[in-house]
Amino acid sequence: MDLGIRGKRALVCASSKGLGRGCAEALAEAGVDLVMNARGSEALEQAAQEIRDRFGVTVTAVACDVTTPEGQAELIEAAQGVDILVTNAGGPPPGMWTDWDREDFIRALDANMLSPIALMKALVPGMMERGWGRVVNITSQSVKSPIPQLGLSNAARAGLTGYVAGTSRQVAPSGVTINNLLPGIHDTDRAASLDDGASKKDGIPVEEARARREASIPAGRYGTAAEFGATCAFMCSQHAGFMVGQNVLLDGGVGNQTM
Ligand code: NAP
Repeated sequence: MDLGIRGKRALVCASSKGLGRGCAEALAEAGVDLVMNARGSEALEQAAQEIRDRFGVTVTAVACDVTTPEGQAELIEAAQGVDILVTNAGGPPPGMWTDWDREDFIRALDANMLSPIALMKALVPGMMERGWGRVVNITSQSVKSPIPQLGLSNAARAGLTGYVAGTSRQVAPSGVTINNLLPGIHDTDRAASLDDGASKKDGIPVEEARARREASIPAGRYGTAAEFGATCAFMCSQHAGFMVGQNVLLDGGVGNQTM
């Protein structure tokens, strides 16, 4: 399917690896020029070059921390005039509700709620003026089915979800859609570190921790970054202009719910 976005420009945050990289690749395959970002410049430059070589699009790499005001300022400058914004950052660490203090919550809110809001506030007005735009926020299945040990993530992402629900309806008349894409377990470094945590907690080999988690998914496996990216690219396409303020769940069937 032609996604109808060839020649458009996108900022994809936190995209040298994992789900962000999957989104960057799928957009590049659709002919979208990219601003890519991560903190580590080596992996970022390598990912950017691989995407240039494979898809022939223009890629600007901006190495910075998207969760800081300085990093956001750099990204906003590099991304002036973008048509598409994919927000993303690393997820907060797991733990127990008794572990977290105010500073932990502030860090989680900065990373997974206030950073995407700052980028939307800076880049959506230009999209509205031009009469077309797409925003996809990478959140988590925990928005629909909170995960007890990911309380920091549950809290921050719920805040972003509430913000998007209101804002998406305010910008839709200008041709800009804002939606959230909710990963369940996908095969990335983040999933490997959660497998590692489960292995240590339960005193079992990491392969067994992974097998147990796979068995808990009706699809019987982890999702892939390529599947995730393809869904993101569709949500950024010409065909998704009537999708507004949705929370699109990609979890292999884990959430047993009708809404
Ligand atoms: P990942 O494999 O750990 O990839 C993270 C990517 O983001 C890397 O490119 C990393 O590069 C970059 N990054 C991390 N923190 C950053 C920051 N502060 N500023 C700029 N770039 C940053 O993670 P993932 O699995 O793709 O997950 C992406 C998001 O989805 C996370 O918020 C995660 O919590 C959420 N999620 C993932 C899953 C899953 O199963 N994978 C499930 C639910 C939710 P650098 O380290 O070099 O910065």
